[in-house]
Amino acid sequence: MPQSIAAPAAGPLVDTFGRVHSDLRISVTDRCNIRCLYCMPEEGAEFTPVARLLSFPQILRFVEAALPLGLRKIRLTGGEPLLRPGLPELIGKLTEPGAIGDVALTTNAVLLAKQARSLYDAGLRRLNIHLDTLDRERFRAITRRDELARVLQGIDTALELGFRTIKLNAVAVKGLTEPDVVPLVRFGRQHGIEVRFIEFMPLDSQDIWSLDRVLTADEMIRMLEAEFGELTPVPDADPRAPATEYQFADGHRVGFIASVSRPFCLNCNRLRLTADGKLRYCLFAREETDISGLLRDDASNAELQAVIRDTVWRKWIGHEINQAGFEAPQRPMYAIGG
Ligand code: SAM
Ligand code: SF4
Repeated sequence: MPQSIAAPAAGPLVDTFGRVHSDLRISVTDRCNIRCLYCMPEEGAEFTPVARLLSFPQILRFVEAALPLGLRKIRLTGGEPLLRPGLPELIGKLTEPGAIGDVALTTNAVLLAKQARSLYDAGLRRLNIHLDTLDRERFRAITRRDELARVLQGIDTALELGFRTIKLNAVAVKGLTEPDVVPLVRFGRQHGIEVRFIEFMPLDSQDIWSLDRVLTADEMIRMLEAEFGELTPVPDADPRAPATEYQFADGHRVGFIASVSRPFCLNCNRLRLTADGKLRYCLFAREETDISGLLRDDASNAELQAVIRDTVWRKWIGHEINQAGFEAPQRPMYAIGG
């Protein structure tokens, strides 16, 4: 890694490859109420003790320090973020005038029907809802919980409340989720919701990932075109967005987060803060910066900014999933924050 010169002390939050960082994913918990097989073990997942989770004031301190560096978007995630008590309070602070403004939430929606109103009232307008299948038995097999009905209720409630953007996230695993590709997009078309398929990544904590278990964007595009007609790339799409978006002739969109078959590392503008206060420049990074001590000790903006700049400056060119010798990170997806 090119570490001979120090990170710039001013200007945009940039790495040594010139990528400007403006997008922060914050995990508010590593706990979850379901057990998706590509993310968590069925039994024995280890969680951060509640006392060691970043508090809301600590998260807000971090955001306050990062804002002048050009932070533009925040996504709250987990584990399952709706398990974190008081989440609307945090969202309310993040969406206050003069704060970040663009705040999104990624959730499995099991608790959404109950919480959607308070999230909306707190200022949240963008939701990504994780749903891999509309079939109850398949949902149970993938998540090891019988919660499909509550997820669907959550989606209904969110649609009724009028969130500005609702997208569905579906993980694409070869030999498992093929039967769900067409029904999910049909459901999306009925409700005016974009479905985004995420290629299975090696973050599963049980070593079930292998390259031949990745259902690729190209394979799914072929399945969808056979059912609904031609898909064409959306013109003028944001090159920094992780999803490549396509549209049908009637304008309905589908996205593919093809991290494995079409890595987009060269456009990556993301930084991640884990629930236990570690800063990561990549999902697959093998190093991380512990900033929990700085936040506990009430460090100054300048101290925090120097650490943020240094972490981004150390960012590698990209993950090496497709290369021999690839090593999955120590932390599984639920402990990083997707
Ligand atoms: N619990 C919430 C949820 O499921 O949306 C938020 C956290 S979850 C870790 C964030 C996203 O990661 C999910 O939407 C899921 O689609 C994705 N994900 C989890 N494990 C994955 C894996 N091994 N490969 C690809 N995507 C994964
Ligand atoms: Fe929980 Fe989300 Fe992981 Fe599924 S993907 S186990 S919902 S954290």
